[in-house]
Amino acid sequence: MKWNLQNTYSQLPPRLFTQMNPISVKSPKLLLHNKSLAKSLGLEMNPLDEEKLSQFFSGNVLPNGSKPLAQAYAGHQFGNFTMLGDGRAILLGEQLTEGQNLFDIQLKGSGRTPYSRGGDGRATLKSMLREYLISESMHYLGIPSTRSLAVVSTGETVQREWDNEGAILTRVAKSHIRVGTFEFAHQYLSLEEQKEFTAYVIKRHYPEIQDSNELALDLLKRVMDMQADLIADWMRVGFIHGVMNTDNMSISGETIDYGPCAFMNIYEPKTVFSSIDTMGRYSFGNQPKIAHWNLSRLAISLIPQIDENQEIAIKKAQETLDEFPSIYQQKWNQAIRNKLGLVGEEPNDIALIEDLLNLMHQYKADYTNTFLDIQSGDFSENPLFQSDSFQDWYVNWIRRATRNGQSLEEVQALMSQYNPQYIPRNHKVEEALFQATENNDYGIFNELLHIMETPYQAKENTTAYQFPPIEGDDGYQTFC
Ligand code: AMP
Ligand code: MG
Ligand code: MG
Repeated sequence: MKWNLQNTYSQLPPRLFTQMNPISVKSPKLLLHNKSLAKSLGLEMNPLDEEKLSQFFSGNVLPNGSKPLAQAYAGHQFGNFTMLGDGRAILLGEQLTEGQNLFDIQLKGSGRTPYSRGGDGRATLKSMLREYLISESMHYLGIPSTRSLAVVSTGETVQREWDNEGAILTRVAKSHIRVGTFEFAHQYLSLEEQKEFTAYVIKRHYPEIQDSNELALDLLKRVMDMQADLIADWMRVGFIHGVMNTDNMSISGETIDYGPCAFMNIYEPKTVFSSIDTMGRYSFGNQPKIAHWNLSRLAISLIPQIDENQEIAIKKAQETLDEFPSIYQQKWNQAIRNKLGLVGEEPNDIALIEDLLNLMHQYKADYTNTFLDIQSGDFSENPLFQSDSFQDWYVNWIRRATRNGQSLEEVQALMSQYNPQYIPRNHKVEEALFQATENNDYGIFNELLHIMETPYQAKENTTAYQFPPIEGDDGYQTFC
């Protein structure tokens, strides 16, 4: 294990963080260790070192060079501005890899901090296993995401509705800087300090604009672009984040904060699984609009840096933000063309796409499997195919997809890169977590994780992982 921790964040204006150590735990036990991720970070270890690892990943022993801190941030939660910060997480430092990339190493569930408003600062084993499973699945689906390096149980009890086993997740991210961090900076830092923070973020995440003479505006543009890519990717695989508060939107464009997230089975834009999202603010179909809204919070936070003249600054910010819907639309159109194996752009594509989505909606078709059925031409399991309108659609689709000389095989090959054979189906995730936490049986957890490591490859004897439950998932609820 070669720790090579930097502490660049600790050199920023002190209001942005509080230096403190993680609170130690009773009897840490290493439950999961992501060996390939560890290797890519230069942190591979001797299997005999398990004891040592559980000490590091619980926060009981600090790695060399660590200068732990909790980050301050603010955020809009369900539209309301709130002061937040790492209330149960500690940044150990930033691991500098051989490739000269910097990755935050953060312990989540590591105890109370000055930013804990309520709560015990701890996390439950079940929710940390869930984050591990889904964040790794997202990564292997090819979608930018924070990663999970380890899960350690603490040997302590965490009280929620009932008693839970406590655990700590080691999270790896390009950084944990959020839209909410800019909201905090805007509120509490001097203009000089705000500019220093922006320069830091640009150096770390968007060095290509370092020489711009419109740093703040160009940062906004880059973040908009990354978020448009990210949301189009979420929509491509049916991912519902569930709690797209501005403090859960990463500046680097990674998916972050896996709380009540879930994957959609039946195609229904109104799908919501989170128990607290009673108004459907963060429903599947609302995600692009919410991203736009969150980006407007970033823009507002950057106004003082955009121009000394506030009127000019607002005008520039507004003009930039107004481009988001069309930037997103382009990325989504490309994503769904890829899902349908359509090369190039033709005027009737949008209608063809809309027709399919409408039919899927009408027939309550499974989002993931319908694209796979179109790809394979095998509709034996899909009620959608019985309808005349779908059969007409299918003929039109083949005609369009193969019009410019593509063979059907080429079309299928393109589709197979964008249509996952597997998503972490909600009922399988729940089964995996139940068996792991109730019976200490990681069989299903490991099988699901293994399947998700190559989600675009069909595998034998995995039918149970490919279909939603027969009874559907009406009423399925997730929790923060
Ligand atoms: P989240 O809903 O996970 O995005 O968290 C929102 C805020 O609540 C963040 O400031 C967290 O650090 C804080 N928080 C969440 N869970 C706990 C907990 N168990 N103890 C203290 N603070 C927490
Ligand atoms: Mg959060
Ligand atoms: Mg959370």
